[in-house]
Amino acid sequence: MIVDGDRVAVALSGGKDSTALLLLLSLLLPAWQNVQLVAITIDEGIAGYREATVQSAEHLARRLGIEHNCISFPGLFGDSLDVILKGREDQACSICGILRRKALVVAAQRAGATKLATGHNLDDEAQSVLMNVLRGDLPRIIRNSGAGSSGKFIPRIKPLSLISEKEIASYLILKNAWNDLPECPYARYALRREVRSMLSDFEYKYPGTMLHLMESKEKIELSCAGSVVSSPLRTCLVCGDPSSGDLCQVCLLLKSLGR
Ligand code: SF4
Ligand code: ZN
Repeated sequence: MIVDGDRVAVALSGGKDSTALLLLLSLLLPAWQNVQLVAITIDEGIAGYREATVQSAEHLARRLGIEHNCISFPGLFGDSLDVILKGREDQACSICGILRRKALVVAAQRAGATKLATGHNLDDEAQSVLMNVLRGDLPRIIRNSGAGSSGKFIPRIKPLSLISEKEIASYLILKNAWNDLPECPYARYALRREVRSMLSDFEYKYPGTMLHLMESKEKIELSCAGSVVSSPLRTCLVCGDPSSGDLCQVCLLLKSLGR
């Protein structure tokens, strides 16, 4: 995933997955001749939650001596997520997800990165597969595959995507890097929460369930290879980002929010 000459932007939320990812990559760094790491943090502006995780991210980057850049929603979109979501709290995660993906790409571009690394773990990935199945969204299962599936010309990599949440938690405890942090107040609205609890039950009763889901995803990708027609890539009329229509997902969302 990482080659000589790469400058890897690590999306560091300050939570456990991104903390483990930065710790692991910084451990590997001395063995790489010509690779640089830079940590990037997105502050969405979620009161009572983000302050602590941003602080934890700053602290970790400082401790590891890694360059750290932070981008905030108000700086990028004019308002904090809390303000943007007023009256739309039930759509929190889909709105936050679209805006945060954009913020990460902007931060990675500003950092001059050649790769964007995120801390998604096996649980996250298996949950996404199941959620897309539950929504009947086959194209998204395929679109989400592998490195380079998002990010404006910056390949995205997920080095922990086959490591379970439990293994990551154990690693952090052993490294004395476990931090008890608050949970996002909007998480209770998310479909992901229910899928997560269902999958954890299944994994407990039938070990290997999450890996099997990932194998199913790979098989679906293989059998669909070449048969899914994706619309030709165009350029967003507002921001110039790649898009499948006149406007990219972010500009469409901002327009629908009256911004
Ligand atoms: Fe954003 Fe939802 Fe995650 Fe909170 S739980 S940070 S709203 S995606
Ligand atoms: Zn746009």
